Amino acid sequence: MPRPIEALIHPDAIAHNLGIARQRAGDARLWGVIKANAYGHGIERVWPALAVADGLAMLDLDEAQRVRDLGWRGPILLLEGCFEARDLELCSRLNLWHVIHHDQQIAWLAAHKTHQPHRVFLKMNSGMNRLGYTPQAWRGAWVRLNALPQVDEISLITHFSDADGPKGIDAAVEAFVAATHDLPGERSLGNSAAILRHAHRPEVRADWVRSGILSYGSAPDFPEHGIDHWRLVPAMTLRSRVIGLQDLQPGDTVGYGSTYRADRAQRIGIVAGGYADGYPRHAPTGTPVLVDGVRCTTVGRVSMDMLAVDLTPVPQAGLGAEVTLWGHGPHGTRLPIDEVAQAAGTIGYELMCALALRVPTHVA
Ligand code: PLP
Repeated sequence: MPRPIEALIHPDAIAHNLGIARQRAGDARLWGVIKANAYGHGIERVWPALAVADGLAMLDLDEAQRVRDLGWRGPILLLEGCFEARDLELCSRLNLWHVIHHDQQIAWLAAHKTHQPHRVFLKMNSGMNRLGYTPQAWRGAWVRLNALPQVDEISLITHFSDADGPKGIDAAVEAFVAATHDLPGERSLGNSAAILRHAHRPEVRADWVRSGILSYGSAPDFPEHGIDHWRLVPAMTLRSRVIGLQDLQPGDTVGYGSTYRADRAQRIGIVAGGYADGYPRHAPTGTPVLVDGVRCTTVGRVSMDMLAVDLTPVPQAGLGAEVTLWGHGPHGTRLPIDEVAQAAGTIGYELMCALALRVPTHVA
């Protein structure tokens, strides 16, 4: 009998969530962002659902190669562009569109011998200060790219730093529009949070939106809004079982460091799931889990292979009881990954990307 932890991947949920993105994006086309192996879900596992997008966006050339091998003939965008000059060969061969965010990438293009001109997305730094040209420098880069015979189309792209929060996107949109209003080319601005919160603005919808985290059923602006508010459905379930039981007496402690002390007689379940499976070690006492679909909470420190759960709300639960660490539970119950992430001081993105290889993972 294998260790009872497993992950279930729900491609139907991805198709549903992309449908929500499409509704909000109006006429804009939809990039399905599939970097980090589809945010930990596995590109091949969720493939047919992803293929409802108009284009696929990612960072790694090997992921681009994989989706071409799966038969994808539509647009592919490399969100960070090429990392070295020789990547341009593969861009030509696989017909990849790529972001340009620094001068060295322009120099590589200028030196690239190709019969197949490139479509590039010139990236503006609209306030994130991560990748891209400032609005002032951006126009100069556009002029240099426009002069290259290797380039046949320049599209315009930026990425918001605060689409999910109170600072918002006004300043970024203003900077982008001011620097680009008189230039031709398709535009792409919005990520998941912008699709959900700001897509009533036509300049945010633009020609392409980029649907990342929302596709996988996590709300980018949690806890202000949860997945129910946005009608998103979790695309990953991590579930396990109770493999041990302990009856605590008042004063007994649980786990490494004895961080939890019972103040009453209490039954706890030991669950096969720990940080080596991708469950966050920093999830404190009180982190939600479902036991047989009933909401319970963890107690004590998460260890490498196990965690402990207070079984008070489910006195009937015994060895083998089903434990939903996140995602879909029995009888239509569910535990959004965002709730677990918040308890652990992180975000849904990190948990789904960190699902460990050792966890047997199946398509539901
Ligand atoms: N576009 C770019 C350039 C990104 O870097 C990312 C993710 O970091 C996305 C889109 C997707 O973001 P999200 O998952 O928040 O939709």
